[in-house]
Amino acid sequence: MKKATQFIHAGAHPDPSTGAIMTPIYQTSTYVQEAPGVHKGYEYARSQNPTRFALEEALAVIEEGNFGLAFGSGVAATDAVMKLLKPGDEVIAANDMYGGTYRLFSKIYEKFGIVFHYVDMSLMGNIEAKINPNTKLIWAETPTNPLMNIADIKAIATLAKENKLLLCVDNTFASPALQNPLTLGADIVMHSATKYLGGHSDVIQGALVINDKALRDELYFIQKSCGAVPGPMDCFLVLRGIKTLGIRMERHSQNGEKIAHYLKAHPAVKKVYWPGFEDHPGHAIAKEQMKSFGGMISFELKNDSMEAARKLLSSTHLFSLAESLGGVESLINHPASMTHASIPREERIKNGLSDTLIRLSVGIEDADDLIADLEHAIQSAVNV
Ligand SMILES: *Cc1c(COP(=O)(O)O)cnc(C)c1O
Repeated sequence: MKKATQFIHAGAHPDPSTGAIMTPIYQTSTYVQEAPGVHKGYEYARSQNPTRFALEEALAVIEEGNFGLAFGSGVAATDAVMKLLKPGDEVIAANDMYGGTYRLFSKIYEKFGIVFHYVDMSLMGNIEAKINPNTKLIWAETPTNPLMNIADIKAIATLAKENKLLLCVDNTFASPALQNPLTLGADIVMHSATKYLGGHSDVIQGALVINDKALRDELYFIQKSCGAVPGPMDCFLVLRGIKTLGIRMERHSQNGEKIAHYLKAHPAVKKVYWPGFEDHPGHAIAKEQMKSFGGMISFELKNDSMEAARKLLSSTHLFSLAESLGGVESLINHPASMTHASIPREERIKNGLSDTLIRLSVGIEDADDLIADLEHAIQSAVNV
């Protein structure tokens, strides 16, 4: 099945009791058994729920994998992966990944004796240098948040296989419409379904997609034992979001491209971070492993004062000042004080995330309207 068809039909089976074309929201905690142990495969809703199963099947199909697992949030999905490890195990992770992932690793899992190495994954040598007999997992994110660095999934997967390590890729920014890490050799794909999968800023949810049955069984055991499952209403919302993922991502990418070029040509803008530019260091790899470059863009003004950034951030009308990304509406965000505030300033600056960096999640509105909104805000900022 081609991608456009997958998004509409994956996981969709007419409901056996009524023929309903949309999977019903099975809002139930338990299931009646005919006799002890005699049931239809559903015992208790933490372990089995038909709405969640439909979503998990859809996730597997659209991410080109064999098995999907849904979680109560993106970080709950990441947390499940971490529970594959034991004290003394080591993880190599990206040094500019999502702030909440860094917080989970550094504030929760370090104290259980897991050791983390944070490296710039755009250079393979940095990853190789940290591999030792205790290394168990490579955690990659590409493009990264918010600096839009690109990691070579295929090359990292080869390195992981050679060293018998698991590779998990956070594919939230690209979405399954633009990039499918399992086809490039990754073992696990993680998503914050809160973002492009849901697509409408109305749900918090996470997902894992896996090819290997034994690994899936381990993660399913963690999902039901630890219990971070999403409710059926939220599964319904993400199933509905997936139907339009293909056309939404097309528009996000088109608008993203127009806005990236507009910003790059702007005399008041110092630097634009977008992997679609030919002079972006990861451009060739991004072009190879992504279908298009998506709607995420970061930039800095030439005026690098905090005041100018603040003025810009509070002067847009269509771009709403908010954390999160991937919804149909455009958002503007200040990583240093918002999404990435949990990373110590020193660490942030060292990794290239300046105090004045501005991140855009470009929505699917009319690109000319979005550009006019940014132009007005940049002009206000230039004059502070
Ligand atoms: C939002 C996000 C997460 C965390 O997901 P939640 O659904 O907020 O728990 C992880 N990774 C990336 C890249 C994200 O953008």
